[in-house]
Amino acid sequence: MGKFLADRFRYFEAYAPGEQPRDRKYVKLNTNESPFPPASGVARALAECAETLNLYPDPTYAALRGKLAALHGVTPDMVTVGCGSDEILDFIFRAFLSDRGAVFPDVTYGFYKVLAELYGIAYREIPLRDGFAVAPSDYAPTAPSGGNPAVVLAEPNAPTGIAAGEKAITEILEADPLRPVVIDEAYADFSGVSAVPLLGKHKNLIVVRTFSKSRSLAGGRVGYCVASPEIIRDIDLIRFSTNPYNLSRAAVAAAEASLDDDGYFKECVETVVRTRDRFAADLRAIGFDLSDSSANFVFARCPEISGKRLAAVLRERGFLVRRFDGERIKDHLRITVGSRSDMAALFSELKNIAEK
Ligand code: PMP
Repeated sequence: MGKFLADRFRYFEAYAPGEQPRDRKYVKLNTNESPFPPASGVARALAECAETLNLYPDPTYAALRGKLAALHGVTPDMVTVGCGSDEILDFIFRAFLSDRGAVFPDVTYGFYKVLAELYGIAYREIPLRDGFAVAPSDYAPTAPSGGNPAVVLAEPNAPTGIAAGEKAITEILEADPLRPVVIDEAYADFSGVSAVPLLGKHKNLIVVRTFSKSRSLAGGRVGYCVASPEIIRDIDLIRFSTNPYNLSRAAVAAAEASLDDDGYFKECVETVVRTRDRFAADLRAIGFDLSDSSANFVFARCPEISGKRLAAVLRERGFLVRRFDGERIKDHLRITVGSRSDMAALFSELKNIAEK
């Protein structure tokens, strides 16, 4: 730590992203990236875009927002964009959570806690029930309407992959229409269910989405938010006040080309879902314990081997998976669904290890 760092960051623990190793070639199943390349139009769009990089992008991102609005059946003033959904979450935490605080599950995306700490936002972690289930009653308001902390939920949740479902989300939305409910849909394309249709009725809903997983653009860094025009205006207040050109022209070109190829998108998502279900069934058959994943990863535990050991053995054999230190999940591994051949290879390794 340098001598110039502000005091309040002295003991600050940054978010630790999944490893992007360079020491050797691994089958990389640790950061939920897509095993497939971006849509073929992306390379063409990037080549054309290169000619225009002397110019700033349109800070309103009207064209991309228009396409996203059409995709979700909303108006363009209900969409804004971010450099990955992590930036959208950052905007949301700053814009809406600063005074009111936040609640989120004890087992969820680690970035929520880091953002809350970063901005000095009061937060409470609500233990998931047995089987890592979200119980809407655990999010029941305790203060008069409007005075309650915002709710932040990943749907499906990460790293468990479990979807709480529309009924649970509606119950949480309705419990206090004056508290924001942030639904992080990073993996929702793999469950096929989105909360966006609930926006018509629930003005406190904020949906966060990304191109990183289902659209094979993790490196492109494109995320977006769908919410009421009022909420979008407030997010844009923060966006324009921090980085009005937050998406590069290259990122925009890639995102638009991806949206133009719906067939490829659907094919990739379907392949991942089929591969996931097959891999999950195979793992269950050899005694692993798995949650029902609606995402592009599985959350699995081998009853006989600690998570730390299993991850280390897999690493020696060339497979990177994600493990966690949290007490409740220290023996689970989050394994991204890769290509069919990678999952077949991983399955035979796991079978060998489990049989010993
Ligand atoms: N939300 C969840 C639940 C995630 O797992 C991730 C990926 N780490 C993100 C948001 C952020 O993804 P990105 O910034 O690449 O859109």
